[in-house]
Amino acid sequence: MIILTSAKQMIEFARNECKLDKTIGFVPTMGFLHEGHLSLVKRSLSECDTTVMSIFVNPLQFGPNEDFDKYPRDLERDTILARQSGVDVLFIPEAKEIYPSSLSISMKAKQRTDVMCGASRPGHFDGVITVLTILFHLVQPDRAYFGQKDAQQAAVVQGLADSLMFPLEIVPVETVREEDGLAKSSRNVYLTDDERNEASILYQALMKGKIQLPALGIEGTVKEMTEMINSSSSGQIDYIEILQFPDLTPVEKLRGKIIIALAVQFEKARLIDNVIFTLEEE
Ligand code: AMP
Repeated sequence: MIILTSAKQMIEFARNECKLDKTIGFVPTMGFLHEGHLSLVKRSLSECDTTVMSIFVNPLQFGPNEDFDKYPRDLERDTILARQSGVDVLFIPEAKEIYPSSLSISMKAKQRTDVMCGASRPGHFDGVITVLTILFHLVQPDRAYFGQKDAQQAAVVQGLADSLMFPLEIVPVETVREEDGLAKSSRNVYLTDDERNEASILYQALMKGKIQLPALGIEGTVKEMTEMINSSSSGQIDYIEILQFPDLTPVEKLRGKIIIALAVQFEKARLIDNVIFTLEEE
């Protein structure tokens, strides 16, 4: 595995792969790797000649009172995991490589951001699309892999690729879960033992919501899920939303692709999860 740290090295590497007619698969991450990240790598390895993983905790996508400083980091362990999982190039830039000077333009994600995490984390997706635009320019991928756990992110990034005509394919990858259904996440380490036990209710509530939606409708389902989570966890519900996917617009008729998404704030970790499914016409 090659480790690159500078933007210049990354561009040179990518240009060379292009000359050699090799396809590049890109897995952008913030590190503290787990099986969720590695499933993106596996998919990239199966579809591309060269797999590049980046590890960069992007300051631009964290709000002033969020966990940028406390975001879990362990580069040594990440390097071992990346190597073992078959990553060809690990790109670990410092912030000054990605943002060498203050940005003279700003990017704004206008669609798919007024709901879910876009509503509760103002500016978050603007930071995400800005860093991904920079990373896409450096890595020049043919395909970029995104987890469905962050379904809104995948939807916003698809919008970025479409609107700015990035010549690449955005590939969504299914959420990897713990045995009890909890979505794997770097932030799970910040759950206390009690919170960790309680957190399986999130997935249970999503599954119940999916089954009950046709009978209970949106309001009834959100109410039922809220009661379920509140009665068995100490976490504070940030949102439970039921929307069309991938446009994240309100559901007018219960049909087509639907997402039920939630965010729950525990003492030191804010967890998100979702289920996406299709309701057939009656
Ligand atoms: P992060 O390091 O949390 O920014 O995540 C990097 C990428 O891994 C994103 O595309 C995430 O959606 C994806 N990812 C994170 N957790 C999971 C998971 N449990 N299953 C699948 N993909 C995931």
